[in-house]
Amino acid sequence: MTKPLVVITGASSGIGAAIAQRFSQAGHPLLLVARRIEKIEALGLPNVLCRKVDVTDAQAFRNAIQEAEGVYGPADLLINNAGVMLLGQLDTQDPAEWQRMFDVNVLALLNSMQAVLADMKARGQGTILNISSIAGKKSFPNHAAYVGSKFAVSSITENVREEVADSNVRVMAIHPGAVDTELLSHTTNPEIINGYEEWKASMGGVLVADDIARAATFMYEQPQNVNIRDITVAPTRQP
Ligand code: NDP
Repeated sequence: MTKPLVVITGASSGIGAAIAQRFSQAGHPLLLVARRIEKIEALGLPNVLCRKVDVTDAQAFRNAIQEAEGVYGPADLLINNAGVMLLGQLDTQDPAEWQRMFDVNVLALLNSMQAVLADMKARGQGTILNISSIAGKKSFPNHAAYVGSKFAVSSITENVREEVADSNVRVMAIHPGAVDTELLSHTTNPEIINGYEEWKASMGGVLVADDIARAATFMYEQPQNVNIRDITVAPTRQP
């Protein structure tokens, strides 16, 4: 039987790329979006539409969804994974970094949920999985704006879950702990980067992206009447 379309944002590296591989192995056609299209194309997965989309461009995202649905049918799963983490201390951090985190992590996520929800509600079927963070449940040093954006993701997820539950649409979240990806590389303060690397080493290492991808497929593959609302997956030794 043909499997339905899965849409993944930020599929060009890290957790998004690992999730794309898992859902491809499970036989789903995919729409993969990110700015570095060459990296999503390099995954070499079958039945995939790759589109260069900055998720802060709501119209570009809607256009990509429309194109993919024209080829593969309605999107049954949207995974909002694209995100940025720019660590800093509030008194010195460039406010442009706060803006970028809220634009990508929060506002783009709202826009992309809106892009699929009306159709999912009308069909009485569909799932949205938001990749939040353990930093959407507790705070960490130098994380003020990032934590703010991820608490927003967690609370938006829970609120929209209630809003659309009667339509049989599932909204769920994963809260990853520390995972080895490119995420830290965008932080500009070298002392904070070093401190974070030491913290990761103190745990004896962190998760790999596929640890999160397995949780994503497990949540989605439950029957539609079962909503695993959220999962926190962290290194065993992470505080
Ligand atoms: P990576 O930096 O490896 O991946 C981030 C992805 O987001 C990339 O594919 C990037 O694609 C995409 N992205 C960023 N900005 C945009 C944009 N404006 N438009 C489109 N895509 C964008 O990090 P991770 O894999 O770790 O991060 C994935 C998610 O997991 C994020 O939401 C992050 O907050 C969350 N997370 C990660 C944790 C970790 O320890 N790694 C822990 C908890 C949560 P491109 O640059 O090509 O556009």
